[in-house]
Amino acid sequence: MNLKALSKGTRSLLALVALAGIVGLGGLAGRTLSVDSKAPSVTSGPSLPVLAAQVFDPEDYGLPAVLSRYDTTLRRRETLSGLLDRLEVNRLEAHQALSGLIQAGYLDPRRTLPGLAVSAHLANGQLDTLSLNLGPERRLMSKRMPDGTYHPIELKARLSRVPRVVSGTIDSSLYETARAQDVGDQQIVDFAQVFAYDVDFQREVHPGDRFEMVYDVFVDERGQPIRRGAVHYAALHGRVTDKSFYRFTTPDDDVTDYFEANGDSATRFLMKTPINGARLSSSFGRRRHPISGYTRLHKGTDFAAPTGTPIFAAGHGVVERASRYGGYGHYVRIRHANGYKTAYAHMSRYGRGIRAGRQVRQGDIIGYVGSTGASTGPHLHYEVYVHGEPVNAMRLKLPTGRKLSMAPEMLEMFLQVRDDMDAVRAAARPPAGPALVSEVIPPAP
Ligand SMILES: [Zn+2]
Repeated sequence: MNLKALSKGTRSLLALVALAGIVGLGGLAGRTLSVDSKAPSVTSGPSLPVLAAQVFDPEDYGLPAVLSRYDTTLRRRETLSGLLDRLEVNRLEAHQALSGLIQAGYLDPRRTLPGLAVSAHLANGQLDTLSLNLGPERRLMSKRMPDGTYHPIELKARLSRVPRVVSGTIDSSLYETARAQDVGDQQIVDFAQVFAYDVDFQREVHPGDRFEMVYDVFVDERGQPIRRGAVHYAALHGRVTDKSFYRFTTPDDDVTDYFEANGDSATRFLMKTPINGARLSSSFGRRRHPISGYTRLHKGTDFAAPTGTPIFAAGHGVVERASRYGGYGHYVRIRHANGYKTAYAHMSRYGRGIRAGRQVRQGDIIGYVGSTGASTGPHLHYEVYVHGEPVNAMRLKLPTGRKLSMAPEMLEMFLQVRDDMDAVRAAARPPAGPALVSEVIPPAP
């Protein structure tokens, strides 16, 4: 699906929904990211909000043993000064430490954002170090000197990008297998999106299928991984699909997409499944209708999913109808290019602004799962028509997206990117050498 077409809010929602699809049974719920904490600190006093992320480890900088430490984050509409007042530290010391940073020009107190991570390290009841985590690349510290003044320090990480190659055999789900190898949530979602047109992760990925992916890891000068970046290579070798994709940005339109080794885009004209995390409950074909009792052609595919699950436009097009339609209940039909139409029935409600005549892009939310019309429970009834004839969406050989072979110069550039990536993969393959990076990355602040 075209994530670029979606707003940021929708995008993160979509990412969650996509994850739910990969996880299967709500495996995300209640899960927290694990962090390696080398120096578990003793926190005394009333319980203050403690960050999951390790904001600062004084041992790394040769500081004295910390007796207690408070971690908190800047709240909405809170000033740094207000934050310091919340900490169980000497108010005067805290404000001296902060003003040192401001006077040094390291910090503009008017330009701080909610969520800023602040830690106060106390030794012998005095504020020893105040540290502000301005992201994985920049930290500020105000350190107590023997004379009682505070010395401002700015720590900047110079990050370099290192590819990390991960491969494995899926046991229960891609999500669990990849997480077990320290792949980030976002990288798993990105991987799944590459295959969204070809593979339904709920039904078409089986134990024993193999995957491989390469993504960026940004490491600091000490070689410590700081954060993860884009997925550059995604391969799935399984029962249903056996494909590899390479990330490439086409220079003419500056669009980043994933391409097969021959330069064919992963993007399809229509998505195979316009919903994530759903279970196929009834296929296209003849069947006995659960309400009327008559045997007749079921012109669509049913996906069981909870009421309210977002439904996506399967492809770019124009909304032809968005209204109640007899037994279909709340119903949307989209007209696509080349004589294709898709229809979505039994919805609980429509997506924002969805009405006849409205242009939609692939991946836009056009409505939400419901059980309106002649329906026995919440599900999406999805139909695809080609020149007016209903066809089986699951069997459809869909027209593909962009082919780089049509533009020789661009193909040349892509082949270079592909070969470089293959060299990275070959270097990581045992026994030729160890994986380039093994990582434990704290979640972003
Ligand atoms: Zn149906």
